[in-house]
Amino acid sequence: MRFDVITLFPELFGPFLQHGINRRAYASGIVDVRLWPLRDHAEGNYRRVDDRPFGGGPGMVMLAEPLARCWQAVREDRLAEGAPPAPTVLFSPQGPRIDHALVEREAAGPGAILICGRYEGIDQRFIDQCVDVQLSLGDFVLSGGELAAMALLDAVARLQPGVLNDEGSHRQDSFNPALDGLLDCPHYTRPEVWQGPHGAQAVPAVLLSGHHEQIERWRRQQRLAASARLRPDLLDQARLAGRLDAEDEQWLGQLDQPGSGGL
Ligand code: SAM
Repeated sequence: MRFDVITLFPELFGPFLQHGINRRAYASGIVDVRLWPLRDHAEGNYRRVDDRPFGGGPGMVMLAEPLARCWQAVREDRLAEGAPPAPTVLFSPQGPRIDHALVEREAAGPGAILICGRYEGIDQRFIDQCVDVQLSLGDFVLSGGELAAMALLDAVARLQPGVLNDEGSHRQDSFNPALDGLLDCPHYTRPEVWQGPHGAQAVPAVLLSGHHEQIERWRRQQRLAASARLRPDLLDQARLAGRLDAEDEQWLGQLDQPGSGGL
């Protein structure tokens, strides 16, 4: 899969692409990331990429013309290299929020042309004519789309076979359909008893028992409990999809009992 990133700040991507577990995906080309500096496609001595908004008001707006030139160059390059057609994505607080289902679709797709906005945003005419989908990182406003692009690339890369050290580890993560879209269970490592600022705390005994079936049951219960406490919407979705069995419901019923302290 190939992602082409159109950005005013390609240098922001350097450390991201070269460090961490996902660098394998980028270095090997499993996830082929190409950076396209927008300013290279601007004209004139100042290589201008923005201008004042019509109608007045604060801030600057990204010009449609350099964006369209850069976007066209990307499309021609993809065609010349035989890359499959891919959608043009604009990162924007106005799009639907990126979630696990979208990341899974992207991870199985041909890649995309990713556009990182800056300033007050992009001339609407470029959006109308060239953008297929807008995607948001969340209901807040960033200074630019680069962080959103990195978030999407990171999430897509870690789903590719051969990228994580342990092949199955992403299937244990929160939101994964393999675990019914619930939150992940808590994790513990050495020491068995940790002296924290609020006293000594031991690892749950079941995790030291070596009893695989009991450990799996405990983990399932913890996923249910965490989802019930922190993201009841995920629990509702799992229930609607028929993914909760009688044992799950019994456990959730106990959580609701007064005095259970959320178990
Ligand atoms: N005026 C715009 C608005 O209120 O919708 C915000 C512009 S923002 C300062 C500049 C750029 O950052 C946007 O064009 C977009 O590319 C990016 N951006 C900001 N917030 C984002 C978010 N939540 N998700 C994805 N991209 C975002």
